Amino acid sequence: MLQRLKQLHAEIATCRACAEAGFFVEPSPVVVNQPATWPKMMLVGQAPAAAARSRGKPFSGQAGRVLFRWLAQAGFSEDEFRARCYFTAITKCYPGPARGQGDRVPTAYERALCRPFLERELALIRPKLILTVGRISTAHFLGSDIAFTAAIGQAFERDGRIILPLPHPSGVSRWTNDPHNRERLAQALSLLKRYSAQCA
Ligand code: SF4
Repeated sequence: MLQRLKQLHAEIATCRACAEAGFFVEPSPVVVNQPATWPKMMLVGQAPAAAARSRGKPFSGQAGRVLFRWLAQAGFSEDEFRARCYFTAITKCYPGPARGQGDRVPTAYERALCRPFLERELALIRPKLILTVGRISTAHFLGSDIAFTAAIGQAFERDGRIILPLPHPSGVSRWTNDPHNRERLAQALSLLKRYSAQCA
């Protein structure tokens, strides 16, 4: 199984489908977090950020600092969480900067091009619990009709797996200023604590 995962990562590393379709992407090292022991949890972000791309490690910049501060509320140190959870993203290449601020959001076409890689990761890893980080990742698993903010703090069962949405930690400070949203986030982290115990 590990060999098949390595082979999949090698295919991702050489994929140029988005560039060939005319999109600006920067081919990246394969930015996943693969624990030493086979994980039962998977975290799916949107796409590698610039810091993750340059370090080859997902959530290793400012957004990661926020994410791991949240995860501490669910009882995880960063090391422990990285040791138990496979991290990946909806699209695997750095999408480049946005015109305004931050990183560009991958288009629906790019997401569709990259989808088979995520499907293969899911089929190989077979996680019991999936943390969807941000709107795009959540819509991928729960459908685009889902009311994203209302989904935070709820657990969903899909195909025998638990899906737990989280907000994207990048630029979320205004969102978390709202006490209702802070309550939603606290509930999501409490659910993570409960369901991750079942993945031990
Ligand atoms: S984002 Fe995905 S589909 Fe697009 S070039 Fe990178 S690996 Fe290929």
